[in-house]
Amino acid sequence: MDKTLTHSQIRHAVQDAYDECKNMTGGKNADYIPFLANIDPDLFGISVVLTDGTTFDVGDTGYKFGIESVSKVLTAILVMKQFGAEAVLKQIGADATGLPFNSIFAILLENDHPSTPLVNAGAIAACSMVEPKGDSWGKWEAIINNIADLCGSEAQVLDELYRSETETNFNNRAIAWLLKNYNRIYDDADMSLDLYTRQCSVGITASQLAICAGTIANGGINPVTKVNVFDRKLASKITTLIAAVGFYQNTGDWMYTSGIPAKSGVGGGVLGVYPGVMGVAAFAPPLDEAGNSVKAQAAVKAIMKKLDIGVFNGDSIAVVAD
Ligand code: GLN
Repeated sequence: MDKTLTHSQIRHAVQDAYDECKNMTGGKNADYIPFLANIDPDLFGISVVLTDGTTFDVGDTGYKFGIESVSKVLTAILVMKQFGAEAVLKQIGADATGLPFNSIFAILLENDHPSTPLVNAGAIAACSMVEPKGDSWGKWEAIINNIADLCGSEAQVLDELYRSETETNFNNRAIAWLLKNYNRIYDDADMSLDLYTRQCSVGITASQLAICAGTIANGGINPVTKVNVFDRKLASKITTLIAAVGFYQNTGDWMYTSGIPAKSGVGGGVLGVYPGVMGVAAFAPPLDEAGNSVKAQAAVKAIMKKLDIGVFNGDSIAVVAD
């Protein structure tokens, strides 16, 4: 079916979703990273970026929170750019694990590859792949510049978060060395782990994440800066990865109930991609037991429901200004 959405319909859907979810309770801040436990749990923002660059922001969309696992999407794009989609499939994989994001059991079950760049194991492997090999600073430049390109503006590490993560990332250290044992780390293991920890500690706003989501939805062209950030063919690959595992062990339930591929982070961020239509980001710190923001999930679902859209609905959607 052909479906037309107007800008004001979308603006109202975003505002209504915000009003509806603002006073929701439930969930709690991540506490295994001490810095995150102390973030104001009432922060809440939603941002939507259409593929024509039109933006709708409501709430705390300028607040810089920890990007955490949403960074996995951005660095997966970088390694796809550097090596191609096929190499990422071979060297990391594109499968859901059905297990928590930091699962060691998942690596033992599939020791021939780390499953997907969107869980901790695959994200550490992705950091190990980043060119230039063996050059920690050069690799970091590539990672942070790619984040800036996708988000349309620069982002910096939150130093206190980085310290907090580095002091407590024992499980991730085990993952990095277990992958090394299976020849699935393609550079120095400790360096790859540090790059992963650093990228998780980047401060990002909901507005920036929505621009990144909009860039993926727009086939690699940043809808705000108009810069061609990555090859169009990679957009469907990255969206497939997000759809398969974006909410870890809860991904099936999420896709079934929301209708939009989305990726979460324990900083409280959610990035959703509606190919050809829009990118959406929501942020609120309290998480459910799988590490996904309770309010951000509710907000994205509310927008989808109000607009009556879903990527599997079979509708062809036109967005018009009014
Ligand atoms: N830095 C966090 C970790 O590695 C990211 C996890 C997440 O956001 N799901 O545990």
